[in-house]
Amino acid sequence: MKKSARLVCSLAVILFSVPAVWSQEKSDLETISRIRYEGFHNSKVMEFATGLMDSIGERLTGSPNMKRANEWTRDQFTAMGLSNSHLEAWGPFGRGWANQYVNVRMTSPDIVPLIVYSKAWTPGTNGVATGKCIRVTIEDKKDFDKYRGKLAGMIVIFGPDAEVKPITEAPYKRLSDDDLAKTGEYQIPGERPPFRFADFLKRQQFMKELNQFFTEEKVLAVIDHSRGTAGGGTVFVQSGGSYKTGETATVPQLTMASEHWTRIARLLQQKKDVTLELNVTNTFYDDDPMQYDTVAEIPGTDRKDEVVMLGAHLDSWHAGTGATDNGAGTIVMMEAMRILKALEIKPRRTIRIGLWSGEEQGLLGSQGYVEQHFGSRPHMDEPSMKDMPTLLRREAGAVTVKPEQARVSGYFNVDNGTGKIRGVYLQENAAVAPIFESWMRPFKDLGMTTLTMRNTGGTDHLSFDAVGIPGFQFIQDPIEYETRTHHSNMDVYDRLQSDDLKQISVIVASFVYETAMRDQMLPRKPIEKPLPKEPEKKEE
Ligand SMILES: [Zn+2]
Repeated sequence: MKKSARLVCSLAVILFSVPAVWSQEKSDLETISRIRYEGFHNSKVMEFATGLMDSIGERLTGSPNMKRANEWTRDQFTAMGLSNSHLEAWGPFGRGWANQYVNVRMTSPDIVPLIVYSKAWTPGTNGVATGKCIRVTIEDKKDFDKYRGKLAGMIVIFGPDAEVKPITEAPYKRLSDDDLAKTGEYQIPGERPPFRFADFLKRQQFMKELNQFFTEEKVLAVIDHSRGTAGGGTVFVQSGGSYKTGETATVPQLTMASEHWTRIARLLQQKKDVTLELNVTNTFYDDDPMQYDTVAEIPGTDRKDEVVMLGAHLDSWHAGTGATDNGAGTIVMMEAMRILKALEIKPRRTIRIGLWSGEEQGLLGSQGYVEQHFGSRPHMDEPSMKDMPTLLRREAGAVTVKPEQARVSGYFNVDNGTGKIRGVYLQENAAVAPIFESWMRPFKDLGMTTLTMRNTGGTDHLSFDAVGIPGFQFIQDPIEYETRTHHSNMDVYDRLQSDDLKQISVIVASFVYETAMRDQMLPRKPIEKPLPKEPEKKEE
């Protein structure tokens, strides 16, 4: 074909066959090839994994390990040659906490060690403590009277019956074409988001009253069982109430493997005496009320005042080592930065990584960063709502933005475990679809095929989205996230899938690179309007 004929043809294609917005999103395939090569042949992602998960370990917000992880990631970034690697404070948070020792055994009617973990922000036992067990089920405060005066010095075997079932489906899952097609279908949202202000406050209030009740009744310890039916020695463990100064639980609380808990429950039902011996050491840390995010950059060139951000939360729960939640997200973001730096990319816009703490307590680290740099809604007076993030304060009024907000093109987040990327949640931002469509094309052979207009919640991209910065979370294969690792004692290095992590690192590095090089910033969508106040519900 002659050059002029070809020009006419391609013009015709642009003008007539393809809608204007879907045309000609540039993709720098040569750089994408180099990113792929560096990420698949020279990967450091599993080195980052052992550094974070094995050498440091759990990273509960406020724990000494959390601070170590902040400092280690900062120093890794400096060693990589990134600029401006530093910690940024947010807070005040509340109390730091770490578990140093836990040993629980049954001493009667049988002698046997038990699988059990301390719940975060609960005290230890002050040495060896022995007590008789009593089964207690409390669903609301009307149930307190049933047990009043009967619990002093007792170990409370707490909660509804645990149901243990055989595992009949593989605990491991990749998304099928069918699953992806379903994710691709948009669901029109309801009038109000599912988060209910009043319900949340009520639940929080009940937890407070329950902990107060156990204190007043001089309970020795409270032991509940792991969630779910899978059992098998996997124990899902979170907190035993508030982390706020002056509000932490005063009675030791533990979560036990379901099969061990049910043995005790059955013996108690048969009116047998069950005695346990507990020895738990936990430490509270009150020296520094502030917490920290780790931030570092690759400076831009002709558009250096504009920024592309990528991030993940660095904090975890404490029973495992937070490998899939969210060590995985942390190390792929570190690796994406390493790849871009190793290739000596000179991005037009500045590329900035943020590793957040406090995510598990309500996106607190990313929220703190966004509030300091980009914008927020007014604060609310109610003490329990004071620390709620902007995205949950829609009843407080409109978002006010700072000048920096206008200069952030987009934010990319990974926090769905170790599984490889299969697509992107567009968070209802239709204008980015054709752009991402084009950037996704080079990764079809790696299984990335799906864009969905759906929102996905629960993690740090929401902090950015809430103030009008395009924030994205990728669609990932679940692997063993819900069945085994998410917030469990088995969220450890061995559950990481290295090939998946390499795939994620390469794709994130590419998307970040394309965003940094693009002529324009990413298109934006409207900021959520304030919500009218929820009508007061009458106490029943
Ligand atoms: Zn997470």
